[in-house]
Amino acid sequence: MRLEQLYKSGKPEISVEFFPPKTPEGVAKLFGETIPHLNRIQPVYFSMTFGAGGTTRDLTIELCDRIKNEAKVETVCHLNIVGQSKEDTRENLRRIKAAGVYNLLALRGDPPKDRPDFKPHPDGFHSSVELVEEARKDPWFSIAVTGFPEVHPEAKDRSADMAYLKRKLEAGGRVIITQFFLDNAYFFEFMDLVKKAGITAPVVPGILPILSASQVRRFAALCGSTIPPAVEKELSKVENDEEGAIRYGIELATRMCGELIKSGVPGLHFYALNRSRSTSEILSNLNLA
Ligand SMILES: Cc1cc2nc3c(=O)[nH]c(=O)nc-3n(C[C@H](O)[C@H](O)[C@H](O)COP(=O)(O)OP(=O)(O)OC[C@H]3O[C@@H](n4cnc5c(N)ncnc54)[C@H](O)[C@@H]3O)c2cc1C
Repeated sequence: MRLEQLYKSGKPEISVEFFPPKTPEGVAKLFGETIPHLNRIQPVYFSMTFGAGGTTRDLTIELCDRIKNEAKVETVCHLNIVGQSKEDTRENLRRIKAAGVYNLLALRGDPPKDRPDFKPHPDGFHSSVELVEEARKDPWFSIAVTGFPEVHPEAKDRSADMAYLKRKLEAGGRVIITQFFLDNAYFFEFMDLVKKAGITAPVVPGILPILSASQVRRFAALCGSTIPPAVEKELSKVENDEEGAIRYGIELATRMCGELIKSGVPGLHFYALNRSRSTSEILSNLNLA
């Protein structure tokens, strides 16, 4: 189903994000275990990330093709523009279409770690808005864009961030998927501003089930997400305890998702990090699986 047709059922639609595994064994595990396991929760789609600078381009598109045509689950292909010419991007769009995939998450993407200030490729698109505009030229594509409940670290301020989000939607974005957050207050505050800005597109909160204390701290620093003191206190108790961290992650996300569902969110997008256990248990705790 196309993105603009989703999120109309009145029940929270579940989607799950993967990244391209680094090894053939990882790919085999994704298709042999993770996807069949998560298929039981009947996700509306699986999405696949697109490595910075197009580094996973072939694999991302190949895996989207397999999810759609072999596992027979709807797919959202992420696409970014960092380090790529316009022709590279147009080729990516052609190849995504050739795989039969019409749902895209249009991103600018992060610059390489050693060059943290984003500089567009000399012959490339300059922003996610330009990518949305390009993809929209072909009505085949249905486009999601990102939203940042805690404000993107590069934004001048919250209102500039919201103005940019509006531009992405005016360019043709149909659905917003958010960065992860560890306190629903950030999401609710963001939603107040989304409504005030007159944005009516579905806003799907991104949920990161914590898998380890060090990993979530790293991701939070990278993504500009705050670790609230109450969460930090719990993380410090499971510093070197993988099972304890996973269990805490499930408990926290269950609580957060329960409250988000009550508030009427149209869906939940899980950053599953290619694992199935936490997402399955959270949804089972919520009687959604
Ligand atoms: C759901 C989700 C999935 C993701 N998947 C991937 C992935 O597959 N691959 C990957 O590399 N990264 C991915 N990321 C990370 C993402 O690339 C980073 O968060 C990045 O820093 C910005 O995201 P973007 O490209 O969508 O941002 P954009 O919205 O394009 O830019 C981020 C912010 O910078 C400001 N900004 C940017 N350009 C302009 C401009 N021209 N004028 C004014 N303000 C501007 C705005 O405040 C904007 O909100 C994902 C993020 C999310 C939330």
